[in-house]
Amino acid sequence: MATPTVEPDPGHAGAGSVMSLRVRESLRRDVAVVGGGVIGLSCAWRAASAGFGVTVYDDAPGSGASRVAGGMLAPVSESVPVEPEVFALGAASLRRWPDFAACLTRAGGDPRLQTSGTLVVAVDSGDRAELDRIGAQLSRCSRPVEALSGRQARQVEPALGPQVCKALSVRGDLSVDNRALLGALLAACRNAGVQFRDHRCTQLPAADVVVIAAGADSGALHPLLDRAIRPVKGEIVRLRGRLGTLAPPSRTVRAIVGGRACYLVPRDGGRLVVGATQREVGFDTEVTAGGIRELLADAERVVPATAEYVLEEAAAGLRPGSPDNLPLIGELEPGVLAATGHHRHGILLAPLTADAIVALLRDEDVPPEVVPAAPARLTVRSAP
Ligand SMILES: Cc1cc2nc3c(=O)[nH]c(=O)nc-3n(C[C@H](O)[C@H](O)[C@H](O)COP(=O)(O)OP(=O)(O)OC[C@H]3O[C@@H](n4cnc5c(N)ncnc54)[C@H](O)[C@@H]3O)c2cc1C
Repeated sequence: MATPTVEPDPGHAGAGSVMSLRVRESLRRDVAVVGGGVIGLSCAWRAASAGFGVTVYDDAPGSGASRVAGGMLAPVSESVPVEPEVFALGAASLRRWPDFAACLTRAGGDPRLQTSGTLVVAVDSGDRAELDRIGAQLSRCSRPVEALSGRQARQVEPALGPQVCKALSVRGDLSVDNRALLGALLAACRNAGVQFRDHRCTQLPAADVVVIAAGADSGALHPLLDRAIRPVKGEIVRLRGRLGTLAPPSRTVRAIVGGRACYLVPRDGGRLVVGATQREVGFDTEVTAGGIRELLADAERVVPATAEYVLEEAAAGLRPGSPDNLPLIGELEPGVLAATGHHRHGILLAPLTADAIVALLRDEDVPPEVVPAAPARLTVRSAP
């Protein structure tokens, strides 16, 4: 293990210890990753595979928003318009997913990448108009889509109900099983020599470089993030089809139901993840009756058979929101990197974020799509 030229501050790598972290590139060997969600684990695995000595600090790795997520890999989601920079990030990461998944399967386990695309569906006339806007947005982003009538959509996915009046087939979208992904990343990290510390950090650990990847809690770890990262609550339900019920759709269905977004992501074993509510209520992870009622009612309008399914789980998680919907990926100060603020797209953006963090650890340029996500934009904005 390399020894820094200057003694690092033993307990803290914050603003007061900037000089102590100015280590020569050749000595930038020890990397501490704070947070073991999809972002922290992806960065840790890739950094360890690239030869860095990596330690992940987390008292409950794999337990945050990443465990709750739907697992859609879709750069254009239900909300339009999509900011061009957010779309460019998503599209660049989506392109990396097939390789990332294949490599992960060899290194730790299969994240169950689904390549059957998504159907975006509308159930009433207002929703049809929103669907048209999504179609136009996808075309502007050069994403091939095929417009389907309700009947044609039911031929593709017989589980769709009679209220579905129009659909778009988006072939390029992917999905993964987020829990299989977390299991695979944990195994890949261990196989690559990543050390795990069962520890909740109240200050940054000593290391040549610290990567802050603590999701919605990242704000507590650095003053720049404190102003930038906020929790955005989301609830989901996990359902399972029963003997005698119509099987769930075979591909992801994203629906606009009475103006609300709802998605249904299939899992192995006749299971279905239905999400997601979106509320700005601080650090609240309690599941509410109203949130679950909304999800179940919307899901039933899209796939009526869900009313007969087993309700296996209801869960809530906190998306790490940022002021401009772009994540924060890059240097906060010398020796401290941010990999957070991924909001609704953390699973999608994991491969690109990990590539960018490894590039920064090597003092190389980040992929061009990541440049707008540099935390420096916050300093510029907050300047008087
Ligand atoms: C309901 C819902 C559905 C979603 N669906 C999708 C989807 O379909 N597709 C998609 O791309 N994204 C989706 N997202 C968003 C995605 O889940 C997040 O963007 C992503 O999980 C963020 O990952 P993360 O690793 O930054 O944070 P998290 O997964 O929250 O992980 C943070 C980790 O940091 C640890 N930690 C926190 N503070 C500390 C500390 N002080 N010291 C040490 N460790 C700490 C926590 O224990 C946790 O393990 C969804 C989110 C929600 C809530």
